[in-house]
Amino acid sequence: MFQIPRGTRDFASEEMQKRNYVEGLMRKTFQSFGYREVQTPTFENLELFTAKSGDTIIEELYSFKDKSERDLALRPELTAPVIRFYVEKLQMEPKPLKLFYFGNCYRYDRPQKGRYREFKQAGCEIIGTDTPEAYAELIALAYEILKNAGLKNIKLNIGNLTILSSLFASLKLSKDQQKYLTPLIDKSMFDDVQKALEDFGIAKSISEDFVQMLQNSDIKQLMKYMKDDENIKNEMAKQEEIMKLLKDSFKIKNCQLKMSIVRGLDYYTGVVFEIEAPSLGAEKQLCGGGAYELVKLFGGNQTPTAGFAIGFDRTLLALETENYKFPTFKLDVYVIPVNQEMVPKSLEIVQTLREQAINVDIDLLRRGIGKSLKYASSISSKRAIIVGPKELESQSVTIRDMKTGEQKTVKIKDIVEFLK
Ligand code: AMP
Repeated sequence: MFQIPRGTRDFASEEMQKRNYVEGLMRKTFQSFGYREVQTPTFENLELFTAKSGDTIIEELYSFKDKSERDLALRPELTAPVIRFYVEKLQMEPKPLKLFYFGNCYRYDRPQKGRYREFKQAGCEIIGTDTPEAYAELIALAYEILKNAGLKNIKLNIGNLTILSSLFASLKLSKDQQKYLTPLIDKSMFDDVQKALEDFGIAKSISEDFVQMLQNSDIKQLMKYMKDDENIKNEMAKQEEIMKLLKDSFKIKNCQLKMSIVRGLDYYTGVVFEIEAPSLGAEKQLCGGGAYELVKLFGGNQTPTAGFAIGFDRTLLALETENYKFPTFKLDVYVIPVNQEMVPKSLEIVQTLREQAINVDIDLLRRGIGKSLKYASSISSKRAIIVGPKELESQSVTIRDMKTGEQKTVKIKDIVEFLK
């Protein structure tokens, strides 16, 4: 027997019903913020992903050579592909350009609950603006998408890599020391951060204060640590404005400034953010994003870019943990020809109903009334239409309400109206 590859999943129809429903809600929210959908290929030239992250990323990729020896990779995320698309074909479009996407991503991760080798992301990029309102709107969009999808318990944390770098600088940490600390901070291993800082020779009182600030940051408190540098002052003012817009204009109350949001210092710059669903435990991060720089690296004209990616599968897991009631798919009508002679007329009825956008199925196994009715209720059909010779003589059929069992004789020409 063949088995599904490790880290991948099949989705049964009930699951697809839920996924399509949530995707529809997300799409609506993207569009309500003026974003337009784009699609890029599932695989790209390998270089697109190594350009920003170096060759070490190949370990995490599904990369391969095609028959002409080209180095390709299944995409691990969609920001690089969308920016490649922008630089290749969309640079002349009016700004800001607001693009969103849904797409499967592939990573050679160690599979566990909420972590797969094939998973879906919903995300967006905003190109051509770096105003505080653009960032605030982007962050609010991520939050609204998850809220509108039905999630009740989510937390938004906002950081800033420019400010974090300056904090590192104020502690006089070397590049290597910063590199050592970053993954620890990313994984919220604050005891280890504290210990490392002390090992680097930083006084206990200062390192304690620093670790405290990483977790619960306050702009005014941060100011204490900052050098008197114009750039940093501007960045702080911007960050403060973003936070204020999110709280006062977008009315997002549970957002917190958290300098421990790092998101891989490689290509992110300035404001960064994450949204988590605490109910999910270890793999609780639903969304990550921020301002980043890729356009120039890909050969385009410098312009500001920012975006985020939402883990679609984790969003569904979080909805399940919150016992979200998904609408279920119900077939409108199941048609039952009582004998073989009734089949052609039954199919004709099915066809007219389908033309009216009614969801109809028909017995294709010649099962007879009893078994067909059982089947109709097992697939949760709202109604059954029984096509028999006696009713047909008067151009009629029997329509049965599958919930109450009530039956009515209805003229064929009146079926659509009756069903509506
Ligand atoms: P990233 O591109 O790493 O910032 O990821 C964005 C979001 O995608 C994360 O917050 C997760 O929700 C989701 N995600 C990342 N990797 C995986 C994975 N292997 N399986 C499922 N979801 C993932």
